[in-house]
Amino acid sequence: MREKLKKANRVVIKIGTSSLVYPNGNINFSSIDELAFVLSDLKNQNKEIILVSSGAIGVGMNKLNIPQRPVEIPQQQAVAAVGQAELMNIYNHRFQVYNQKTAQLLLTRDIIEFPQSRENVCNTLEQLLAMGIIPIINENDTVAIDELDHLTKFGDNDQLSAIVAQLVHADLLIMLSDIDGFYTANPLHHKTAKLYDEITEITPDLMKQATGKGSPYGTGGMSSKLKAADRILKTDATMILANGKEPKIIFDILAGKKVGTYFYKEETL
Ligand code: ADP
Repeated sequence: MREKLKKANRVVIKIGTSSLVYPNGNINFSSIDELAFVLSDLKNQNKEIILVSSGAIGVGMNKLNIPQRPVEIPQQQAVAAVGQAELMNIYNHRFQVYNQKTAQLLLTRDIIEFPQSRENVCNTLEQLLAMGIIPIINENDTVAIDELDHLTKFGDNDQLSAIVAQLVHADLLIMLSDIDGFYTANPLHHKTAKLYDEITEITPDLMKQATGKGSPYGTGGMSSKLKAADRILKTDATMILANGKEPKIIFDILAGKKVGTYFYKEETL
């Protein structure tokens, strides 16, 4: 049933702040190092890799020595602007060890709303992949704000990663979270909750089993991950939700091992 994963060639990986920044606010270099190693190695196996990375605000808070996440939006945007540059600095440094080039793409919802913008983004991504470069994508926090007449925000990077996977016709979206997969209830509060091995349809009952975010850095919570999975299941792609604590788990996922929750459309088997 997971045979298809072994053949996945074009892979989008989404990593959340909780995998990049420790709960005490310090940068998790071991996780970032491991991620750079794994993604560079997959690229060397001729796979096409796109990384969607959160973490700008977390890294910015660390760089500016701000203990609490700012409440005001302009402050958040300023911290994100500092953090995004620093995050790319850290990524470039780590990927450089493996002689792997990266690129930064900061996107807004325009890529959904405007066909010309969408085409420009697709062309850029295709060109970068053809050049063997790993694109690193985040939302453009400076521009992205929910306005009444002009929605510029994706909502969160869970949605952004699914939209990117859709745009580039990826084979697989790997969503790395702070939990092993999707459970019958939030394991934080329900000790007997069971992990789903696979899901083929996002039903209202499943949505009810998904509740809010788990960590202080969490954004969308599980319902946002299910929404992303729903988007993926409308395409020919598949999705794995797994724990990003050790990014080497990506090797296991692509070897078809039974880790995380596998979302696939029944007929894509
Ligand atoms: P991330 O920061 O990785 O994007 P979030 O904090 O947004 O993750 O969401 C992950 C959290 O969702 C988990 O840590 C867990 O506490 C919570 N959660 C709620 N419902 C579920 C569920 N049914 N299965 C798994 N986790 C759940």
